[in-house]
Amino acid sequence: MKDAIDLRSDTVTKPSAAMRRAMAAAEVGDDVFGDDPTVNRLQEVCARRFAMESGLFFPSGTQSNLAALMAHCQRGEEVIVGQDAHTYHYEAGGMAVLGSIQPQPLTNRPDGTLDLAEVEAAIKPDDAHFAITRLLALENTIGGKVLPRAYMAEAIALARRRGLATHLDGARIFNASVKLGMPVQELCAGFDTVSVCLSKGLGTPAGTVLVGRKDLIARARRIRKMLGGTMRQVGILAAAGLHALEHNVERLAEDHANAERLGRGLAALGLRVDPVQTNMVFVAIPGNSVADLERHLREQGIVALAGPRMRLATHLDVDARDIDRVVQAFAGFFGKAAAAD
Ligand SMILES: *Cc1c(COP(=O)(O)O)cnc(C)c1O
Repeated sequence: MKDAIDLRSDTVTKPSAAMRRAMAAAEVGDDVFGDDPTVNRLQEVCARRFAMESGLFFPSGTQSNLAALMAHCQRGEEVIVGQDAHTYHYEAGGMAVLGSIQPQPLTNRPDGTLDLAEVEAAIKPDDAHFAITRLLALENTIGGKVLPRAYMAEAIALARRRGLATHLDGARIFNASVKLGMPVQELCAGFDTVSVCLSKGLGTPAGTVLVGRKDLIARARRIRKMLGGTMRQVGILAAAGLHALEHNVERLAEDHANAERLGRGLAALGLRVDPVQTNMVFVAIPGNSVADLERHLREQGIVALAGPRMRLATHLDVDARDIDRVVQAFAGFFGKAAAAD
């Protein structure tokens, strides 16, 4: 029997047979000594692809973000960050707990951007009362939404003018790149550091690469050691990353098309669906039906996290036929026929 259709996240993908073969065949060495040729190749490939000086492999995006923030900010310094940003909201407060970094959260606007006038107003003057504002951190995509290049360029220009460094949580930057039809090197130009997940839409079992300025990556390398993230024959994972970069980037367009198909299907049932930009569909579910819906979907072989604002993520382990089954299951639950496509 086919596995359940799992729409909880794009992290649920299993490595394909070809990816597993690449992993099994990986040349490895002790990466603490810099001896793992596959890790070294992945770091170089990523640095080149993003037109950055250096790259560094991490076990997770959370650790990559934390190491980057700590490379930028000393104890008692501050990062301006979105209220909805992963680094602020979904990383267990790591920057404060482990980095002694003060977050200055600002409300994300509905399109995911920060109001740059608010950013500027949040930069603290040089006064003993205040933390030292050091960094502006953005995220792209954020909640499935793409930040346009022009906005990011404006944000970077503001940061530069005010002497702030810049970090981009680009966990899903390839989704933004594919959506905009713009190479990541162009999309990320000007950021001091960018964190790129390989285990989301790209489909590896684990791994994130931090790319950026050489001096910052050198600091992040020491911090990674401090955080316990330095691994040994980890070329096994890096090989999955190299395979993903070669085979799983352009195909993100399919995930976007499937998300659009799902969004259209659910909207046709009369449900309120946010405009779909990449691989995330957000749909409003009437509060009293959340638990029943989740159970109903599970009975139909569909795993999803229902909520008042339900998120459904498409990825390389779901195809258009699966999407149609999901729409049918929703139709069954809400007692309507799914509109033919
Ligand atoms: C997934 C994700 C991360 C990192 O997550 P890990 O699970 O630690 O790899 C960071 N930022 C964003 C936006 C993410 O979606």
